[in-house]
Amino acid sequence: MVEPIVKFQNVHKSFGDVEVLKGIDLDIKPAEKVAVIGPSGSGKTTIIRMLMTLEEPTSGTILVDGENLWNMEKNGKLIPANEKHLQQIRGNIGMVFQHFNLFPHMSILENCMTAPIHVQKEDKKTAKERSVEMLEKVGLGDKLDNYPSQLSGGQKQRVAMARALVMRPKIMLFDEVTSALDPELVEEVLEVIRGIANEGSMSMVLVTHEMEFARDIADRVLFLDAGVIAEQGPPHEVFGQSENVRLQSFLRRFK
Ligand code: ADP
Repeated sequence: MVEPIVKFQNVHKSFGDVEVLKGIDLDIKPAEKVAVIGPSGSGKTTIIRMLMTLEEPTSGTILVDGENLWNMEKNGKLIPANEKHLQQIRGNIGMVFQHFNLFPHMSILENCMTAPIHVQKEDKKTAKERSVEMLEKVGLGDKLDNYPSQLSGGQKQRVAMARALVMRPKIMLFDEVTSALDPELVEEVLEVIRGIANEGSMSMVLVTHEMEFARDIADRVLFLDAGVIAEQGPPHEVFGQSENVRLQSFLRRFK
């Protein structure tokens, strides 16, 4: 059996008194594409942020590539795995956010080159070659010296993708990457994600409100509702035959 690249075991997360995730069990296989759908506030972003180690679980275990993100202390408290180890795990994960998060004072080429040079300690020439290659892949090979402010929202989001891809992650996380875009710019961004997905090698977790896109791209769709995975399966089952009433009601909003 193939070892999962991501494994959540009975993961709970509370903010103050509010339990946002109520026992998540989830295995993601290498190269698997998982779309996460569900109502606002159901905990989708929290799952992604936990994978990126931006949030710690209240209890439970999260493994990435077989490595524990958090260790249990004797008193039952969770502490981060040591910093070097965390950096290594984070290096396997690329993330694209809703609000691009580009460095405004750097050209788009420099935006892509920064992490390979400073985090991966690549030499400048290699970092530049790889950055140019990835910017060409997302269709921005003619804009290398432009600054983020000179680009459309869709173009900025494509830079954010190139910047994540340059790190050669094993897993890519996409958190509602089209929801801050004008409608006419959505398709160009989805098209780039489709291209990356079709290359096949990376696992992907996509939180999205684009149901057609999720149906197209995902091997598996998770419906998150009130902090639990209420339904999951291949797209044709989740979008077609589920008897889950909450899911049916959620999906009707997109018709
Ligand atoms: P979704 O992505 O499905 O909309 P989120 O994971 O963003 O849901 O949030 C789930 C719930 O957790 C929401 O009620 C949100 O207000 C709450 N929440 C998320 N992050 C924090 C935080 N840092 N502090 C307090 N509450 C939070």
